[in-house]
Amino acid sequence: MTQINHNFLELQGSYLFSEIAKRRTKFVQDNPQAEIISLGIGDVTRGLPEAVIKAMHAAVDEMAVPGTFRGYGPEQGYDFLVQAIIENDYKARGIDIQANEVFVSDGSKCDVGNIQEIFSNDATVAVQDPVYPVYVDTNVMAGRSGKFNKETNRYDNIVYLECTAGNNFTPSLPDRKVDLIYLCYPNNPTGMTLSKEELKKWVDYAKANNAIILYDSAYEAFIQEKDVPHSIYEIEGAKEVAIEFRSFSKTAGFTGIRCAYTVVPRELKGYDPEGNTILVNDLWNRRHTTKFNGVSYVTQRGAAAIYSPEGKEQIKALVDYYMTNAKIIREGLASIGLEVYGGVNAPYIWLKTPNNMDSWTFFDKLLSEANIVGTPGVGFGQSGQGYFRLTAFGSRENTEKAVERIRNLSL
Ligand code: PLP
Repeated sequence: MTQINHNFLELQGSYLFSEIAKRRTKFVQDNPQAEIISLGIGDVTRGLPEAVIKAMHAAVDEMAVPGTFRGYGPEQGYDFLVQAIIENDYKARGIDIQANEVFVSDGSKCDVGNIQEIFSNDATVAVQDPVYPVYVDTNVMAGRSGKFNKETNRYDNIVYLECTAGNNFTPSLPDRKVDLIYLCYPNNPTGMTLSKEELKKWVDYAKANNAIILYDSAYEAFIQEKDVPHSIYEIEGAKEVAIEFRSFSKTAGFTGIRCAYTVVPRELKGYDPEGNTILVNDLWNRRHTTKFNGVSYVTQRGAAAIYSPEGKEQIKALVDYYMTNAKIIREGLASIGLEVYGGVNAPYIWLKTPNNMDSWTFFDKLLSEANIVGTPGVGFGQSGQGYFRLTAFGSRENTEKAVERIRNLSL
C-alpha cells in the first residue's frame, strides 16, 4: 500500500449540496405531486448566444479539412481570443494588459483551485466568510488549513474575513499578516460588491504586507452600477499584487462548454527560499504549460465571438434576462419585509432568514411550504448562518412563480 496525501482527510464532506439533494429527494418521495422550483442552482439555463453558435459551427467546419485543421494550440490560448480579451475587457477600461499576462483555460474553478500550487505551503491564507468553497478546499488539500474545528465550523490556520449585514458585507483587513487573500467580487454567495475605495484598501494592505490578492471576478459581466469596479486593475498599483480570474461560464452560458481566463501581471513578484525575486507570471506559465494542453479551438472561437458587435448585444440580453429575474426576487421579497442583499450587480440574492431562523430551518420551511429549493447560507461558512441564497438563473416563469409562493408564506 502507498501512503496517501493525508491532507485530503481534513476535507469536510461536500455536505451542502448532498444534504440539499437528500432533503429534496425525501420531500418529493413523501409529496410526489409537489411541483418543486429550484432557485438553488448556480448554473445558467438559457441557450448559448447565436454569435457563439455560428462561430463554433464555422470552427468545426475548419477542423474537418487538413488546410484549416488545428491540433494542439498554444496552451495559453489562441492569439485571436487573447487579443479580444485584452482589447475589450481591459484596454476599453483604460487598463494595459499584455498578451503574455493572459492565460486562457477551461474554467475559473480550475484556475482558482490550482493557483495556490505556485505558492509556499507555509503561506497563510485569508478567505471571505461566507465563501466559494473551492478556495478553502484546495488549500486544505495542500496542507495549509490546519485542523477543522467542528465547534467553530472553521479551519484553525485559515484567516476568515467575516462578511455579514453587520459590516455591510465589507470585510475588515486581517488582524495579522497573511500571504494570500481570496476576494470574490461580485460575490458568490452574497451578491454584494466592493467600492473602489474599499478595494484600494486591500491593494494597499497587500503592498504593505507583501501579500497577493487572488481576485475572482467570475460574475463581472453582471455589474450594472456605474461606480462598481470591473477589474482590480482599476486600482493603481494592483498589478504588483493581484491575479484576476474571469470566466465565460455565466457571462455567455459556457458552464458546459468551458472557457475562462486568468491574468497574471508581469509586475507581480514572489520570492524563493534564498530571498531572490521570482516573477509569479513565469511560475504560472510553467505550471499551465506543464499541466494543461489548451482549450479547444472550437471553444475559443465561440468565446471570441462574444466580443463581436452581435455577440456583445446577445450577451447583454442574456445578462439582462437574469438580472431582471434578480430584480423580481429582490423586490418581491423586500415587499414582504424580508431583509435582502445582492441581486443588483450579481445574479445572487442573499436574504436574512426571518425571525432569526437558522439557515437549514428556513430551507425546510421553504421546501415544505412553498416547494422551493434554495441554498442555506451556513453551507458557505459560519458567517452565512441565518442567511439564505437564491439565484436568478431560473426561467422567468419559475422565478415569478417562486416569488409569488414566498409572498404567500406566513413568515
Ligand atoms: N468562481 C466563482 C465565485 C463561482 O461561483 C464559480 C462557479 O460557480 C466559478 C468560479 C467557476 O467558474 P467556471 O465555470 O469558470 O469554472
